[in-house]
Amino acid sequence: MTARPIAVVGASAAGLAAAEALRRGGWRGPLTLIGDEPHLPYDRPPLSKQLLHGAWEPDRLLLRTEEQLAPLGLDLRLGTRATGLDVATRTLTLDGGERLGCAGVIIATGVTARTLPGADRIAGVHTLRTLDEALALRSRLANGGTPGSGGVAAGGGGSSRLPADLVLLAIGSRPAVEWLADPALDTTDGLRCDEYCAAAPGIYAAGDVARWDHPVHGRPLRFEHRMNATEQGMAAARNLLAELSTTDPAVGTAQDAPAPERRPFAPVPYFWSDQYDLKLQAYGLTAGADRVEATVLDRAERRVLALYGRDGHAVGVLAAGLPPRRIRALRAVIATPLPWEEARERIGAATAAG
Ligand SMILES: Cc1cc2nc3c(=O)[nH]c(=O)nc-3n(C[C@H](O)[C@H](O)[C@H](O)COP(=O)(O)OP(=O)(O)OC[C@H]3O[C@@H](n4cnc5c(N)ncnc54)[C@H](O)[C@@H]3O)c2cc1C
Repeated sequence: MTARPIAVVGASAAGLAAAEALRRGGWRGPLTLIGDEPHLPYDRPPLSKQLLHGAWEPDRLLLRTEEQLAPLGLDLRLGTRATGLDVATRTLTLDGGERLGCAGVIIATGVTARTLPGADRIAGVHTLRTLDEALALRSRLANGGTPGSGGVAAGGGGSSRLPADLVLLAIGSRPAVEWLADPALDTTDGLRCDEYCAAAPGIYAAGDVARWDHPVHGRPLRFEHRMNATEQGMAAARNLLAELSTTDPAVGTAQDAPAPERRPFAPVPYFWSDQYDLKLQAYGLTAGADRVEATVLDRAERRVLALYGRDGHAVGVLAAGLPPRRIRALRAVIATPLPWEEARERIGAATAAG
């Protein structure tokens, strides 16, 4: 009997990290990676940076080439959309009607850009989430933004009208969970998971789509950060293998090695972004804070630090313009929520020490 596959749905940062970790972790059975975009897994942050201003072409965004993917022995389904999942039998439905019974499933479908009603019917209105969207926007910008039809007019309902050559809708995102209709899954603001990234037995989630119980912060969190996608992809894969190791012979372990145990996923949240020539970096949680204290460290160098608090504890720190060495020192301070005053002192010492 052929072993059932593990399927990873979503062929981007989290899905790729999960697929690679499954092989590293000893999964010898079939491994299916399903992605609805036609492209090999690519990196999204440069879409709004190097790709958009023309410094990079799409091939530089690839996370792996075909040659680098080959050793994984993937059943790679690009341009294929998962349309349903039966949780009890771990059976995926793909567009075209194929049904795929799985040993385990990792869901890494990310988020999609929010849009406005009717926007898809107006030329010159763009969103920026995928490579194709970024290329379309770049091409229109290169043509001076003019579609030749006189541009776009925004406004209405008694408000003023603002004619524009081009409109970029940057109004947030929506977790890609609409295809998960099984009532065994909670899909309110992402796919709800426990601290092991498990949404149900044998079904795990990772990356932008996953809302999981963060064991340190004690509440469900969902991050749309590039580094979290990779780390959580690996964690979900490890925990799925640990779950399957007692039941599925396709999970290989080194001789005499004890069966791996599932581990809670407890990262120190981190993100970076470049706003023109200014680097922003943050550790911990900034959303949901009830207190923020900003300090200008160096006006000429545009170095600013902001400490975020919640319920009397410091939970996050955001820095603009700080060199990496000084940023890393902040990580240790914010790894677990500290009483506000203690965190302030330690942050002050960490930034002065640099
Ligand atoms: C323009 C831009 C700039 C960014 N800049 C930064 C930055 O500076 N710093 C930072 O930390 N993060 C940044 N991010 C966020 C970062 O890119 C994401 O956190 C990361 O891509 C999440 O990876 P993921 O694999 O979870 O999801 P995604 O990258 O969203 O990938 C999900 C994939 O699943 C596919 N999919 C969805 N539904 C289905 C389905 N039903 N069947 C099959 N496939 C499906 C999607 O098409 C997509 O290919 C940026 C994102 C964008 C768009």
